[in-house]
Amino acid sequence: VAKRLEKFKTTIFTQMSNLAVKHGAINLGQGFPNFDGPEFVKEAAIQAVIDGKNQYARGFGVPDLNNAIAERFKKDTGLVVDPEKEVTVTSGCTEAIAATMLGLINPGDEVILFAPFYDSYEATLSMAGAKVKSITLRPPDFAVPIDELKSAISKNTRAILINTPHNPTGKMFTREELDAIASLCIENDVLVFTDEVYDKLAFEMDHISMASLPGMYERTVTLNSLGKTFSLTGWKIGWAIAPPHLSWGVRQAHSYLTFATSTPMQWAAATALRAPDSYFLELKRDYLAKKEILVEGLKAVGFKVYPSSGTYFVVVDHTSFGLPNDVAFCEYLIKEVGVVAIPTSVFYLNPEDGKNLVRFTFCKDEGTLRAAVERMKEKL
Ligand code: GLN
Repeated sequence: VAKRLEKFKTTIFTQMSNLAVKHGAINLGQGFPNFDGPEFVKEAAIQAVIDGKNQYARGFGVPDLNNAIAERFKKDTGLVVDPEKEVTVTSGCTEAIAATMLGLINPGDEVILFAPFYDSYEATLSMAGAKVKSITLRPPDFAVPIDELKSAISKNTRAILINTPHNPTGKMFTREELDAIASLCIENDVLVFTDEVYDKLAFEMDHISMASLPGMYERTVTLNSLGKTFSLTGWKIGWAIAPPHLSWGVRQAHSYLTFATSTPMQWAAATALRAPDSYFLELKRDYLAKKEILVEGLKAVGFKVYPSSGTYFVVVDHTSFGLPNDVAFCEYLIKEVGVVAIPTSVFYLNPEDGKNLVRFTFCKDEGTLRAAVERMKEKL
């Protein structure tokens, strides 16, 4: 394997889902729903295939989807963007992340992440030859330590990557935090890459897009996808929204990574994004009920549960059960209890920082969530 990928192992999500199958454990690890996406979107996909939308799409997206993304972004943020120049469709947000790093970061540039961070950020930055710095968000509230961020910024800092609502903690960046980060970025001429794939799963406060803050659109790449909002994580439709000078870099990388994304699925994605408001309200209401079951269940099991404002994840402190770290705890949980969670230490530059925390997902039907809680009550 190339040096730039030497330190990375099989992703923790793949490892854990494999163990779930091997041990017949209930999988509250990898974040994918065990229920299906909406009929009207599936039907749109079938129709697109039948209608012959089956050859290469335009590289940066089928026009109808670029339009639908721009319309959605205007509804959500009030920002008017040019679908032809500022929206790039990718194969999932994961490709948008890679294209952003490879298209906008030079070797030696510094990029600041907030730990715990989604694993692909560090790996794709490594592919781009960037230097990664990380600022640790600490429980109970995972607030942004602005002074630490300030001292981490140097003349080589090219970008700060944020993720709100935040995987794995469920933290949502507050207006004050975003304002403080924005000021630092403007002052130091730094870009923001913002991963907002859980924006429709914002329960405790309104989601705020960094791009909508004064002076920020021109230095922000907003990343999103269809997977979480429409319970279709296997479709792999994502996008990047950025001003033309930044979109250009993202598009250049995207052109040579995948060139274009599945054509019929893009047509169906456009239909999805034009769903009525009631769809988004219902999604949130359903997830709130699931969250309640898992959070109350985990508390009853005896975990210290940290408040999660958004996403379909919640992190807990496992230390009262006496295992030495998150990986040992997750192993015990799979083998002795029959439940899969995600150890969080892989999401830090310094794994020690995550050793007390594990992540559970509640993107499963209610029966599955209750069954997992019962197993833990019985056997932990
Ligand atoms: N985003 C999903 C999660 O955090 C996992 C995606 C993946 O498996 N790479 O669980």
